[in-house]
Amino acid sequence: MECLVAHNGGVNSVSTGGSLHDLRHSNAIRVLDLIAEHGPMHRAEIARRAKISRTTITTITRDLVSRGILTEITHRPDSQEIDGRAGDQLAFSPDAGWVAGISQVLDRICVRVTDLMGEEVAATEAPIGAKDDWRTRADAATELLAAALEKGGGTRGDLLGVGIGLPGQINPSDGIVHGALADQPWHGINARKEMGKRLGVPVFIENNVRLETIAEAKWGAGRRIHNLMYVNMSSGIAAGFLFGRELYRGAVGGAGELGHVSIDINGPACRCGNRGCVVLFAGAPAILNRLTATMGESVTMTDVLNAVATRNRAAENVLAEAGTMLGRLLASMCNLLNPERIVVGGQTSLAGAIVLDPIRENVSRYALTPSSALDVVASELGGGPEAGAAGGTALALSKLTTSHQMLERLFNGPVSAPA
Ligand SMILES: [Zn+2]
Repeated sequence: MECLVAHNGGVNSVSTGGSLHDLRHSNAIRVLDLIAEHGPMHRAEIARRAKISRTTITTITRDLVSRGILTEITHRPDSQEIDGRAGDQLAFSPDAGWVAGISQVLDRICVRVTDLMGEEVAATEAPIGAKDDWRTRADAATELLAAALEKGGGTRGDLLGVGIGLPGQINPSDGIVHGALADQPWHGINARKEMGKRLGVPVFIENNVRLETIAEAKWGAGRRIHNLMYVNMSSGIAAGFLFGRELYRGAVGGAGELGHVSIDINGPACRCGNRGCVVLFAGAPAILNRLTATMGESVTMTDVLNAVATRNRAAENVLAEAGTMLGRLLASMCNLLNPERIVVGGQTSLAGAIVLDPIRENVSRYALTPSSALDVVASELGGGPEAGAAGGTALALSKLTTSHQMLERLFNGPVSAPA
């Protein structure tokens, strides 16, 4: 079963008691779960997957359609016929509500609003100052979301939930941003509380690279891959792991801090307190630093990508070395975790084969897994905050049936926007 995000139990779980009402309710939730995960579906397929009788499914779906939550869509010629018939499929109604995703990186914020079938309603983005504090970032994200909703012809009342990606280690149990890097703008802040206060809708906080991982697995190069390692190569280097299609977060959301894995214990000191972290060799600041002599003090990664496009040897060599360093580390990661596929995204990866080939060669040479059982491919979504925002919508949607607040908004229809 498709399950990109583990459902949290506990306080947000919808209780399922023994009464007939509760049973109907839990069956309705099962139906919504299936459509949220797999997309439009015939009643027969819902019945089969949910292991509920056709009669019960007919009753439940009739109720969900009358409430405006589900709608019948005409069978599309590109979809497979189920049980030999081409009946109407059930999907979330475009008016059932929206979800939003917001992702922040150091200098940019992206927002995406979709309906519950994942169809984009609106998207916006804005630059942000690299030195802006968390309050400025929170307010900018709030304004940008409002602009996206207005663009889509709606208000915050149309939102059922928002998935938000931030740099740092996000503890899923309390929404607080932790991490070894005390200079990160959200360090120590309860992002769930602060963003929830500003937006007035249910919010779910996740590391931005982990959201990119979810998006890549759902819509990009990680589709149908069960054990995936996603790597973002930009100013930082970070990873996301999907084991059995489920995002792995670790005990307090710290899994994936790939950039601060040391590859040289006697190497240069890193701001995290370790020595020889791979980010010091393959992160964008390290790449730019090595190119200032030939490309000038103010060289940017965009300049480097342009230089690679015109076969600039200095730029090619530095990027190839960064790829080699990262590839050696990824080979070790493969020996530890045995993914089927590594997807590489982030701005540096846009250099293409110059950086991906050395990663591929080193993984192939040093990983013990046979090359036939492991490949290294470029991200299909680019791996920036746009992808993170898309992942945010997927995160919010995955919480639809486990969040009391989201279910209430879904069943009670759009609510008036909070002041
Ligand atoms: Zn470090």
